[in-house]
Amino acid sequence: STPATSTTTRQVKLDKESELRIEVGMEIPLRLRLLTGTAEIFGTELPPEIWLSFPPRHKFAVFTWYGATIEMDGITETDYTADETPMVSYVNVHAVLEGRRNHAKASSSTDPDSSQGPRVIVVGPTDSGKSTLSKMLLSWAAKQGWKPTFVDLDIGQGSITIPGCIAATPIEMPIDPVEGIPLEMPLVYFFGHTTPSLNVDLYKVLVKELSQILERQFAGNAESRAAGMVINTMGWIEGVGYELLLHAIDTLNANVVLVLGQEKLCSMLKDVLKNKPNVDVVKLQKSGGVVSRNTKFRQKTRSYRIREYFYGLANDLSPHSNIANFSDLFVYKIGGGPQAPRSALPIGAEPAADPTRLVLVNINRDLLHLVLAVSFAKEPDQIISRFPDLPPSSAVRLIEDLTH
Ligand code: ATP
Repeated sequence: STPATSTTTRQVKLDKESELRIEVGMEIPLRLRLLTGTAEIFGTELPPEIWLSFPPRHKFAVFTWYGATIEMDGITETDYTADETPMVSYVNVHAVLEGRRNHAKASSSTDPDSSQGPRVIVVGPTDSGKSTLSKMLLSWAAKQGWKPTFVDLDIGQGSITIPGCIAATPIEMPIDPVEGIPLEMPLVYFFGHTTPSLNVDLYKVLVKELSQILERQFAGNAESRAAGMVINTMGWIEGVGYELLLHAIDTLNANVVLVLGQEKLCSMLKDVLKNKPNVDVVKLQKSGGVVSRNTKFRQKTRSYRIREYFYGLANDLSPHSNIANFSDLFVYKIGGGPQAPRSALPIGAEPAADPTRLVLVNINRDLLHLVLAVSFAKEPDQIISRFPDLPPSSAVRLIEDLTH
């Protein structure tokens, strides 16, 4: 890397419990290092003196509990310091979760209830900082030696793998502020769209499948059971979106619901969950640092993530194309098949569209620029249920452009 020039390097002194909020410029990465004191990025401590390079458009904050000096080299879109943050309330939540993990670890592992660590679900509207809070809670837990499971149900802006998927992965180390979530052994389900409204029932089926596999893993692993999980959700909280939140809370047996930045959602959830005494609903303040992203920006981010999936964060992967005959490929769409007409059903029966029914798709130009998942199922009707039996890293393989 090129040596820092004096014109673009500058130092920022941070007082205790304050943060430096940064949006990296559109074109070039920003280099940053910790000069004195201690600081963290979304729960992960910065190594002293070592330059870190943040890619263009990256948005983040460097927070310090006790004071720090930060040095930056490069151009930012914005950077400013803020001394009002909700970090104390967030770390208090972490402390409570920590207590529950210790309690779970100490209890006899034969009792399924008391040996279960906290299952935290983070909910709230778009741009309330859900992914960020999830990362902090995971990194703080990992720093203390736990291996919590991260579940990302956000198919639009998820942080585990390519958009259009729900996924889960154990977090064994504080999350790298540049590289993000490690991808060694994620459990991935391909939904294929960036909004669940295109097949709500399929979304529910996948959440259910994922939860059953996790349940099985927890049953055989007291350590990860005690560490619990952190579940990130979509920002869709109205109507069907709200119904899907309730479905996720129920299906994954969440026992701590963290509501970011919305009174109404919080009181609705408190009300509907009041007959479940073991579920705590906690309201948390949204950070003033969370950057709002419009639809266009979200689309861009998705494109970059798809690119990153194939080419790597630093263009360090080289995907190659395989040529196959169309006659050797079967392309299926899940759900959306024609329903049996009412007249063909016994009297009184409701037509039920099977959300997991496979529909053979014609290979034509409509498939251009779509991302597909490659299934390893032997028979079409095994396609959904086969995913979890695969080695996790190959659970989803994608082809970028069918006509290449
Ligand atoms: P979504 O609507 O996609 O679910 P979200 O609620 O999960 O969004 P985040 O992804 O956590 O929101 O935050 C939105 C953006 O704001 C991210 O780019 C994140 O890095 C940035 N951000 C969050 N907190 C801060 C902060 N304190 N300072 C600067 N940037 C921040």
